[in-house]
Amino acid sequence: TTKQSKRYSITLLPGDGIGPEVISVAKNVLILAGSLEGIEFNFQEMPMGGSALDLVGVPLPDETLLAAKKSDAVLLGAIGGYKWDKNEKHLKPETGLLQLREGLEVFANLRPATVLPQLVDASTLKKEVAEGVDLMVVRELTGGIYFGKPRGFGTNEDGEEIGFNTEVYATYEVDRIARVAFETARKRHGKLCSVDKANVLEASMFWRKRVIAIAAEYPDVELSHMYVDNAAMQLVRNPKQFDTIVTNNIFGDILSDEASMITGSIGMLPSASLGSSGPGLFEPIHGSAPDIANQDKANPLATVLSAAMLLKYGLGEENAAKRIENAVLDTLNKGFRTGDIYSAGNKLVGCKEMGEEVLKSVDSQV
Ligand code: ATP
Ligand code: MG
Repeated sequence: TTKQSKRYSITLLPGDGIGPEVISVAKNVLILAGSLEGIEFNFQEMPMGGSALDLVGVPLPDETLLAAKKSDAVLLGAIGGYKWDKNEKHLKPETGLLQLREGLEVFANLRPATVLPQLVDASTLKKEVAEGVDLMVVRELTGGIYFGKPRGFGTNEDGEEIGFNTEVYATYEVDRIARVAFETARKRHGKLCSVDKANVLEASMFWRKRVIAIAAEYPDVELSHMYVDNAAMQLVRNPKQFDTIVTNNIFGDILSDEASMITGSIGMLPSASLGSSGPGLFEPIHGSAPDIANQDKANPLATVLSAAMLLKYGLGEENAAKRIENAVLDTLNKGFRTGDIYSAGNKLVGCKEMGEEVLKSVDSQV
C-alpha cells in the first residue's frame, strides 16, 4: 500500500545539559516512526536557554520564537544549569522558557503519569497500588491565582502587613481548558475527573459550572468531579481510578508533581503544552541534569515519549505515536535500562545505545 506523504516542520530546541543528547535520540526516532507512516519532517534546530545566553546574550532569541511559531510543533530538551543560576532574572535560562510558553500561547499542560509494568518497582507506592496506573493531568497554565489581580503586599484595617493573591477564571479560560481536557480524555479511556474546591471557592464553583456546560459537547466522555483535598489523597490511595484529570493552575501544579512521584521515574516522563491553534510545545518533565551531561548517561525515553505526544496531541498522528510508545515498551521488555532506571539483572546502556535499541524496535514493527 502506498500512503500519501505528509510533511511537518518541527522546531528542535536542544537547550542545555543533557538536552542535546536526548533530543538527538528523539529526532532519529521521529524520523523513523514518521517514515513508516508516510510522514516527513523538516527539522529546524534553534538556540534556547543557557546556550542561547552564551551565544547571543538572551535566553530566547527572537529568531527562535519566530521559528517555533511558524512550525507545526516544538520539541524541547531541557534548559538551565549551575553556570547561569546566579544570573539576573531576565538573563536566566528559565525566563526563556516562560517567554516561549507565553509566545506560543500554550494554556494547557498535559502530564501523563504511567506506571509501566517493567518499572513498577520504581514506584513510591506499594506494588498492588502502583500496578496499572495510567493517568493524565491536564493543568490550566496561564490563568488562576498565579496571574490573577489584585495581587501584592499591603496593610489591612488594623495596620497589619498582608500579602494577597486572587484566583480568577473567565468563561473563555475555563471553556478552552475544558475542551482540551475532554478531547484528551476522548483520545485516552473516555473518563474525565474535574478537580476543584467548589465547596469553598467561588472561582471553583464557576469552574465546575463551565466544565459541566462544556460536557454537553462531549456526551461520549464520562465526567466526574472531586475536591482537591480528596484528589490528593486518592492519588496515593488508589491512583488507578483516574484516567484524565483536569484542574486549575495551582491545583495542577501540585497534583502533577504528586502524580509524577507515583511513577518514580523522572527520566521516563513526557509532557505537552497546547494552545487553541498554533504549535504545541513538547518536553520531558526532567531538567537539564548537569551532573550527568555529556557523559552518555541520560535516559532519552522521556524525550522520546514527548515526541510520541507531539505526534498524538500536536499533529494528530496517532499511528506514528503508537509505534513509538510500543517501541519504548519493547525496548524495556528486552531489558535495556539507563542508569536511572537500572536494577540488577537488566542490561545497562547509555543514552545513545538506548536510542539505537528504540530504533531497532520501531523498525521491527509491521
Ligand atoms: P530543573 O531544571 O527542572 O530544576 P532539577 O534540577 O530539579 O530540574 P533535574 O535536572 O531533572 O532536576 O535532575 C534531577 C536528578 O535526576 C539529577 O540527579 C539528574 O541526574 C537526574 N535525572 C534527571 N533527568 C534524567 C534523565 N533523563 N536521565 C537520567 N537521570 C536524570
Ligand atoms: Mg534545577
